Amino acid sequence: MSRLTEAIRRVFFPHHCYLCNEVLYPHQRVCVDCMHKAPYIYPPICQRCGRSKDDCYCGKRQRAFERCISPFYHQGVAQQGIYTLKSAGYRVTAEGFAAEMAEVVRREYGGIPFDFVTAVPLHKRERGERGFNQAEKLGQAMAKRLGLPYATVLTKITLTAPQKSLKAVERSGNLLGVFDVCGDVSGKTVLLVDDVITTGATLDECAKMLKIFGAEAVYGVTAAAAVLSNEEK
Ligand SMILES: [Zn+2]
Ligand SMILES: [Zn+2]
Repeated sequence: MSRLTEAIRRVFFPHHCYLCNEVLYPHQRVCVDCMHKAPYIYPPICQRCGRSKDDCYCGKRQRAFERCISPFYHQGVAQQGIYTLKSAGYRVTAEGFAAEMAEVVRREYGGIPFDFVTAVPLHKRERGERGFNQAEKLGQAMAKRLGLPYATVLTKITLTAPQKSLKAVERSGNLLGVFDVCGDVSGKTVLLVDDVITTGATLDECAKMLKIFGAEAVYGVTAAAAVLSNEEK
């Protein structure tokens, strides 16, 4: 579908499945097909990376964040939805994922007194090219659902090679000194949002910086968790 046809369709039929983009009745958020096909992560989950125990690769790996959780695996319709979010930034897409993320936060992090929600930042050039930060869209929509404030406290000061092109070992080294803290995080319990967790290196580096600046605890939540290939583990 051309961008113009898509834009016109959105004006006249504003309700879409947030995963596959199918037109829906106004009261629906997701189509029946996606509801059945969505790659949900079911408990019991790993208390570090949030994947089902069978897909966890944590081992003895140390992380600066307390835990990370995700409603979906980065597969099938969830992967498709995240691609739509990153390429088009639709509000309904962000809100659909945010609703699922808020649900796992309530289930897994219930009772944790978060001070605010924040997101993994983009470098200003990356943000300029895309026009928005998808993690921020998810974070703001989720904060609203959870009744928590949203705060911008992280900034990305160095442009990095795309994470996809690097192996896991290179990834962790690649992020050293990439992020900086630009807000008051001292003594705070932070809920940190990103679109996808792969090796966890990005969340780890952000959490490390937040803790250097005095954050009490950092909990991650992402829309999806990638299932890693053996060479990525
Ligand atoms: Zn759908
Ligand atoms: Zn794990």
